[in-house]
Amino acid sequence: MNIPLIIRAEEHNEKTAIATTDGAFTYRDLLHSSSQIATGLLKNAEDLQEQRVAFLIPPGFEYVATQWGIWRAGGIAVPLCISHPRPELEYVITNSGASIIVAHPNFEGILRSLAEAHNLRFILTSETLPSDIALLPEVDITRRALILYTSGTTGKPKGVVTTHQNIQAQVTSLTTAWEWTSDDRILHILPLHHIHGIVNVLTCALWAGAECHLLSKFDAETVWNRICDGNLTLFMAVPTIYVKLIAAWETASKERQKSMSEGCAKMRLMVSGSAALPVQVLEKWQTISGHFLLERYGMTEIGMALSNPLHGERLSGYVGKPLPEVEVRLVDENGELVPAGTPGEIQVKGPGVFLEYWQNPQATAKAFQDGWFRTGDTAVVENGNYRILGRMSVDIIKTGGYKVSALEIEEVLRSHPDIQECAVVGVADLEWGERVCAALVLQGAQPLTLESFRSWAKERLAVYKVPSQILIVKELPRNAMGKVTKPTVVELFRG
Ligand code: ATP
Ligand code: MG
Repeated sequence: MNIPLIIRAEEHNEKTAIATTDGAFTYRDLLHSSSQIATGLLKNAEDLQEQRVAFLIPPGFEYVATQWGIWRAGGIAVPLCISHPRPELEYVITNSGASIIVAHPNFEGILRSLAEAHNLRFILTSETLPSDIALLPEVDITRRALILYTSGTTGKPKGVVTTHQNIQAQVTSLTTAWEWTSDDRILHILPLHHIHGIVNVLTCALWAGAECHLLSKFDAETVWNRICDGNLTLFMAVPTIYVKLIAAWETASKERQKSMSEGCAKMRLMVSGSAALPVQVLEKWQTISGHFLLERYGMTEIGMALSNPLHGERLSGYVGKPLPEVEVRLVDENGELVPAGTPGEIQVKGPGVFLEYWQNPQATAKAFQDGWFRTGDTAVVENGNYRILGRMSVDIIKTGGYKVSALEIEEVLRSHPDIQECAVVGVADLEWGERVCAALVLQGAQPLTLESFRSWAKERLAVYKVPSQILIVKELPRNAMGKVTKPTVVELFRG
């Protein structure tokens, strides 16, 4: 058996796989370079079975060739995050127990010293290309392929292990549902250490034999230029990226706006996920691009689970129905199925669900109930569509006997003319259990008093959902994926 992604790439030989500012690289180039890199990694070792190889390379052909090279050598790929400071890189390197670090020369300083500190083999990307290619090992699809760290939105990032088979299941589900073909061309602007960028964009594209256009870093004007060029078919991003693109659109000339809208009109699909998509963003994006964004729900541990339809009606505020080969159910605190219309925890089963948390059998065991993965997220099904209410740990606030969804309150607060962004949290309280509190980023110069804010909110929300305390902040604390880190927001209120 060999890695399914590699077998498929052989069919697409001369087609462009990766396009960057350095040029276009075919599937043949990718196969060739990845086998060279695998050979380089295997020097001094028979194979890399079960060994973790951490790598830090800017988005581009070398990144992809290295990831595939690690796989072809039989190793487990551990992508590091470009924007992480040293302590976070060190956490991932030591937590994954990597034995080799591969680094682009840009990151040599930090990574060489980390390799020395932990006694690891250090390889620069410029050193990974021997001219003779060794016979590579057979890699069974049940082998561990990837350790991706969760975004760290609710605590320390967790190392999520997926096998080649899990990855194959995740990409076949998505490429089927969203009808990827080898004619697709996607612009890739997402981080390459996280499931969204690695699986949904990069690996789906390569699985389909499509073209993946990698930008070395996100920049709204560059993205718009590429959209204006008019040769892309797909785009995927997180809500904060759409917010930045909308801001750039708003300051553009009428003529430029026209060309931006025309570029969007040439695409077949635009997707949002990884965090709740505010209705205002969805509506604004629709007016400027003509696209009703397809919102989907997933996580590092399960791949994608729920999606609005490619064809047919997409509902704002909903994440649609289960994707192909994914089973989803909602359960109560006792693990019993909830009646229709009642909120419950999302549980997921299917071939895309991860193998384990890295070297944490206790956490793995706790995360499953009778073979179903407990997501820790709450949702409700309305007319057959799932609506996400938020994470049980930070978004479901228990106040005075009620359970309220921070996401629902945030959606309402964002319609306040002076509020640009907000994060609602529960802060421990002797009387109420938790108090509903809101951190607000204001727009415009108007000051906002708690009194005027509360009287505005009371006209729109049940009184127990109205935040009792507000804090005006310059910006919300966010992680590398652009998600608001709620535990930090809670700290702001405690402090
Ligand atoms: P950590 O597990 O370290 O706290 P994280 O859960 O943010 O971080 P990811 O695996 O990147 O790490 O994110 C998955 C989570 O993102 C889901 O559990 C869910 O809470 C949230 N999410 C993903 N898509 C959506 C969506 N469309 N709407 C609302 N929330 C979403
Ligand atoms: Mg999580």
